[in-house]
Amino acid sequence: MNILFASTSEQPARWIPDLEKALPQDRFVLQPAPNVDVALVAQPPPNTFERLPNLKLVQSLWMGVEQLLLDPALPKRVPLARCLDPAMVAAMTETVLAHVLDWHRSHFRYRTQQQERVWQQLPQVLAGERTIGILGLGELGSIVGQTLYVRGFRVLGWSRRPKQITGIECLTDLSEILSRSDMIVCLLPLTMPTRRILNHKAFAEMPEGACLINVARGAHVVEKDLLAALDSGWITHAYLDVFETEPLPYESRLWTHPHVTVTPHTAALTDPRTAVPKIVENIERVRRGEAPEGLVDRVAGY
Ligand code: NAP
Repeated sequence: MNILFASTSEQPARWIPDLEKALPQDRFVLQPAPNVDVALVAQPPPNTFERLPNLKLVQSLWMGVEQLLLDPALPKRVPLARCLDPAMVAAMTETVLAHVLDWHRSHFRYRTQQQERVWQQLPQVLAGERTIGILGLGELGSIVGQTLYVRGFRVLGWSRRPKQITGIECLTDLSEILSRSDMIVCLLPLTMPTRRILNHKAFAEMPEGACLINVARGAHVVEKDLLAALDSGWITHAYLDVFETEPLPYESRLWTHPHVTVTPHTAALTDPRTAVPKIVENIERVRRGEAPEGLVDRVAGY
């Protein structure tokens, strides 16, 4: 098979040597051509899909595919697969756990106290007294939720379809999960219904003093509404990895807000060491005429 690597953000040198080693009978190319069978993509250059009339698989190098789905030239009848990279799931779990513990153990407050040389012990809250709501119970949200449950937290989860997951009380009512959670973790895909879902109304439904962790996509959050909720103290802290505009503009108030922790879209990075075997597995599946793993539902948008 001829396999195209097309990305403006991922370096071919990080991927192709391992791919070539695993698939010695296949040929890897960097330019679109009519004989390409498989396209490996993450933010492909413009007009990539227009020049690939014989594709059998579009394999994303990333978990989120909302940008690919916006490309009008993405072939409709060719399977589109997300990258289900186990290292990304582990990394996301570590990131969310770090933020949850930072807030739960009041470290975000002690950092401020240290700047002001204030020696004051804050009340200790038990993990079992905290309720954490996970928006999105997919590849990431379900494992994150179960990890928090094992740490002793009460865990609620929200998904489109009803679910049963050990340790997680699964809900389909957004208002219920918002109003019952001390911390909200956003792990939704970006689709029409989930865009701007964390807005003024959602923050008002969260209990006073709540915390927000957004590690999904920036467009899930209306930043202006979040800043208002932080300024008023209704939301005590926001851990933000993703933003309406990336890189976060220099003039954004989020950079300097005392109740915001900013990370530069690094909650979970694709790791070729663990992603390549999954991608190879999908190419072999397609070679055998089977459906790939991580198949995207084009109607649902994820
Ligand atoms: P996934 O497996 O597709 O799961 C998505 C979950 O969201 C599912 O449980 C789904 O419900 C739920 N959902 C979707 N639309 C919904 C709606 N309208 N109402 C309620 N629930 C809804 O996604 P994933 O692999 O866990 O990844 C989630 C997102 O994380 C990705 O799309 C990506 O944007 C983001 N991400 C960020 C980083 C980073 O570094 N910051 C890294 C990786 C991924 P059902 O179960 O009912 O389908």
